[in-house]
Amino acid sequence: MSGRRMLVVGAHSADFVWRSAGAVAAHTETGGEALVVALSYGERGESGVLWQQEGQTEENVKRIRHEEAAKAAAAVGAEFRAFDLGDYPLHVGPEAIDRLAELMRDFAPHVVLTHPDKDPFNPDHPVAHAAVARARLLTAGAGVASSFRTAPPPELLAFEPHQPELCGFTPTVFVDITSVFEKKVEAMSCMAAQKYLQEYYAQRAEHRGNHARKVTGNQAIRQAEAFQRLLPNVVGAL
Ligand SMILES: [Zn+2]
Repeated sequence: MSGRRMLVVGAHSADFVWRSAGAVAAHTETGGEALVVALSYGERGESGVLWQQEGQTEENVKRIRHEEAAKAAAAVGAEFRAFDLGDYPLHVGPEAIDRLAELMRDFAPHVVLTHPDKDPFNPDHPVAHAAVARARLLTAGAGVASSFRTAPPPELLAFEPHQPELCGFTPTVFVDITSVFEKKVEAMSCMAAQKYLQEYYAQRAEHRGNHARKVTGNQAIRQAEAFQRLLPNVVGAL
């Protein structure tokens, strides 16, 4: 993916790890550049284990979550940036939308990954989706010459949510992560506050690997990640 730029935006600092760390690693391993943005640290809703420690504070939970996510991003060759907007509930106000749009104009990603627009189990994930979709449109200038600074419209894909069927998620793209699976495992191991998810998402990668083998006939695929294209991709020929 030499010369290609990937932007991953999650509501919480660990979201990118479970859902797209393999795709990020495959992208950077082949020469692409990747930037991960966390709109919040998930300090309230996704850091339960850290709150079991006596005398724990929100500032300290955020500090730990930042370190973990930065380490996980580095493990898959990406840079990590935190917006620290707070979670449960996550609010993405006009200033944060502008900040995200500005980041998109500067980074000019070729591909953007984020949550699907629906999640009956999490109030923040759809909020993140809406913010990314809006910032992307503001960045791309709706495809016409504009009086403000724009960047070309990037591809937009949803990464796999925890319970795909209930989020209306249907895979349309599998990324073969076999050659970088160990990097995903390493990234997941950085998320000490959510150890219970590490085995779960390692198994998910195996299941998606099975599906990717079925659809291609390529028996060399062992692990994969699933994504859903939210916009058509354009090709010169089929
Ligand atoms: Zn999350």
